[in-house]
Amino acid sequence: MSKKILVIEDEKNLARFVSLELQHEGYQVTVISNGRTGLDVALDKDFDLVLLDLLLPEMDGFEITRRLQAEKTTYVMMMTARDSVMDIVAGLDRGADDYIIKPFAIEELLARVRAIFRRQDIESSKKPSSTMGDYQNLKLNSQNRSVVREGEEISLTKREFDLLSALVTNVNHVLTREDLLASVWKYDDSVETNVVDVYIRYLRGKIDVPGRESYIQTVRGMGYVVREH
Ligand code: CA
Repeated sequence: MSKKILVIEDEKNLARFVSLELQHEGYQVTVISNGRTGLDVALDKDFDLVLLDLLLPEMDGFEITRRLQAEKTTYVMMMTARDSVMDIVAGLDRGADDYIIKPFAIEELLARVRAIFRRQDIESSKKPSSTMGDYQNLKLNSQNRSVVREGEEISLTKREFDLLSALVTNVNHVLTREDLLASVWKYDDSVETNVVDVYIRYLRGKIDVPGRESYIQTVRGMGYVVREH
């Protein structure tokens, strides 16, 4: 299957040129010229790579990277016009995986893209088993971050999956909100403490069966736990 690339770039000529060259290499390319729309599309569909301009209408490349990486593991390469170390550092800090400085030779971009996909293919072939753990009748699949419940596949976001994994790998141990913030949000101080409760609610909404007891139990004044029955 051909790799899917999202190009978020508001310079029309550059976007068209890059897109044509990538298509010529056999990739499926989507071009978006607006930052906010670009983020929505990147969150909604699964791309193998997002090529991201920094200065964009409505939302800049930093913010797009930050929000995208909070939900997904999509590979992001920034295209920065400014040959500034600070921009590059800021982009990498927010979760970009690679960068290329404009103006660039198209051959260099194509070579970098090929290298990224080679690495991705090697990494995915190394993963030994797709199931990472089971809990009751839930099978957790870390490869596509889904849960199979009685034959039904339920897709989770990265956060939801990490949250469930943290609980399942600590069966019978109550995890406090602070424990979960540390293991799932990595002490990101931009998040509010109640984000844990919000995500527990999302997660229950996806995995629980209406009318049955929730997989995740609330321990009043302490936190959350999944229990072995
Ligand atoms: Ca721009």
